[in-house]
Amino acid sequence: MSRPVQARRLEGIDKNIWVEFVKLAATYSKVNLGQGFPDFPAPDFLTEALTRALGGGNHMLHQYTRAFVIIIEPFFDCYEPMVKMAGGTPVFVPLRPNPPRDGKLMSSADWQLDPAELASKFNERTKAIVLNSPNNPLGKVFSRGELGLIAELCVKHDVLCISDEVYEWLVYDGKRHIRIASLKGMWDRTVIVGSAGKTFSATGWKVGWVVGPDRLLQHLRTVHQNSVYHCATIAQEAVAQGFQRELMLYGKPESYFVQLPKELQQKRDWLVQSLDDVGMKPIIPEGTYFLVADISQFKSDVPEVPNSDEPYDYRFAKWMVKNKGLAAIPLSAFYSEAHKNNYTNFIRFCFAKEEATLKAASDILQKWKQEKTSS
Ligand code: GLN
Repeated sequence: MSRPVQARRLEGIDKNIWVEFVKLAATYSKVNLGQGFPDFPAPDFLTEALTRALGGGNHMLHQYTRAFVIIIEPFFDCYEPMVKMAGGTPVFVPLRPNPPRDGKLMSSADWQLDPAELASKFNERTKAIVLNSPNNPLGKVFSRGELGLIAELCVKHDVLCISDEVYEWLVYDGKRHIRIASLKGMWDRTVIVGSAGKTFSATGWKVGWVVGPDRLLQHLRTVHQNSVYHCATIAQEAVAQGFQRELMLYGKPESYFVQLPKELQQKRDWLVQSLDDVGMKPIIPEGTYFLVADISQFKSDVPEVPNSDEPYDYRFAKWMVKNKGLAAIPLSAFYSEAHKNNYTNFIRFCFAKEEATLKAASDILQKWKQEKTSS
């Protein structure tokens, strides 16, 4: 019997959290706070723009061969297979939680890089670092100081920065998103990635963009032309019109980039409150529409699965969707194999949801709490 042929670089990346949990949520959930997508419609100005539009050698990859690419954990899970498929070797460095001493709720800002540990990951074979600020899944918005640290190492070791800024407009509490490309020495070595999915709440349109110096973008164009090839022109046209509208309204109360984060901040606060009420300690996100919560106090609710080495957070998330109808994503899905087991006490919720959806989630949690206290 011959074994199926599979490229070595694809080994171990065939499992996918989204395939598994999207199916679970579709089968069991009454309330889906799992996968990150708004359950509210994209704004009218955008869909109207779409309607109007309707009426009317791969150098980058070669550079990465045998290259090391640093990925900051926790990370959006596709970075790892993407690096591997490009022939690179991912090197992981975790954000480390420093719980506040005063008993206050943790914030995503309390998860930080250890400067010495970060520096130790850079060497002459490091070709790139993937940065994601605001970060999915924690909601961390990297500070100027933290970005400065990364920038200094990139310049020192001549490393490229792939800066995933798709949540750039979703920043709360008056915080500011800072582009690492604006720091000294970084424009020439940074590729900024943006997404209409997150920017205009239209995740199904699959329109995104990159911004950077032509020296780097010329290679991206080659990759794009020969892999993605094309995306729907009408969707691009509508997104362009969305940007033109936002440019006109920049900073004004009618601007979507002003309104959306304002609404999401309220939704965040609401979910923080509901989770805190039931003892599922939330880590308050500074940005994105995700929120990570601590499930360590729920261990006795979830039965052990015999002969399974499945981490607690996976077991918990599967049990919760099947028994409570509430879908969320296990945090360890956002870690490399080697570090997964250190972060199994958390799950991620998405709060880009209608008020009624969030209310339904809160009702499930409250009912659960009452059952716990009365049993
Ligand atoms: N980025 C979204 C999330 O993190 C969607 C992921 C996906 O569908 N692959 O949930």
